[in-house]
Amino acid sequence: MSFSEEILSWYDANKRDLPWRGERDPYRIWLSEIMLQQTQTETVKGYYARFLARFPTVADLAAAEEAQVLKLWEGLGYYSRARNLHAAARKVAHECGGVFPTDAAGLRALPGVGPYAANAIASIAYGEPVPALDGNQARVLGRVLAWEPELKTPFDLLKPAQSLISKDRPGDYNQALMDLGATLCLPKAPRCGLCPVAERCRAFREDAALDFPRKPAPVAKKEQDWTVLLMTCGDKLLVRRRPKGLLGGLYEFCAVEGWHDTEAVIAILEDMGFKNPVILEALPDARHVFTHLVWRMRGLRAACDAFPDAYTAVTPEQLDPLPFPSALRTYRGLVTRKQS
Ligand code: SF4
Repeated sequence: MSFSEEILSWYDANKRDLPWRGERDPYRIWLSEIMLQQTQTETVKGYYARFLARFPTVADLAAAEEAQVLKLWEGLGYYSRARNLHAAARKVAHECGGVFPTDAAGLRALPGVGPYAANAIASIAYGEPVPALDGNQARVLGRVLAWEPELKTPFDLLKPAQSLISKDRPGDYNQALMDLGATLCLPKAPRCGLCPVAERCRAFREDAALDFPRKPAPVAKKEQDWTVLLMTCGDKLLVRRRPKGLLGGLYEFCAVEGWHDTEAVIAILEDMGFKNPVILEALPDARHVFTHLVWRMRGLRAACDAFPDAYTAVTPEQLDPLPFPSALRTYRGLVTRKQS
């Protein structure tokens, strides 16, 4: 048997039971692939079901407001995925007659669809023999081939991956490698004894599975300090919609960069346009780790008599439907508890 036949035969007997398995509708495959980027499969299942219940077709998603999409995405993180999802749905609905592009090259023209997602969708929905090289597939292939060059991206393995892919069942083959990487060829503890390709795996034969794939040294994450303020004006809380960029389009509380003593915070707030700001109490610290960045947050409860235009004063009921990033969940939780 060839490599792809061994992989497929293992897949037929061992594939994971996932809600998007067996799906041929490019809308549903696209949705699952975008959600699965950077997110655990178990977490995605619930979001996938809720999204499809609310937006059963690409036309339904295209017709939604961006804030509705972000609200439904709340907690999944990497919100640019949700903004791109919405923009891509609009593109399909308005520029492609409601029909998804039918090959990987066409799919890549959609916002947020990179080479991995394009190849995954094209192979699963249309049977195009293109490898869906994500971290899982790269780990399996990097080990099977004992690939010596450093992998800067999984697509560094494109050439060998292209030569190994099944031409008959490329979609199943790609999903088989995803499953193998997720269940057996694990990053820190590969279960080589159960692996269908152990005999042809060079890293296993050399007892060096953990040495592959070769990766560049990790870059240290940048740390940013913030003072987050649950600032009220009268009996309403002040929130602001974040501009484009990190967490763009989501809502946040008043925040001051850096950690400062009370007097300095008040002076900064006055400079920002808050009138008569006062600090009421200290709130817990929080920390959130992004891909390349860490936020270290100190919280304060505060009040003011007037506020700058960028902010909106909301009641707890009005706060509820607004999309907030998980990075602020500590402070968002304090609002709910305080006012319930
Ligand atoms: S033998 Fe081990 S290292 Fe090689 S592909 Fe299988 S699980 Fe991964």
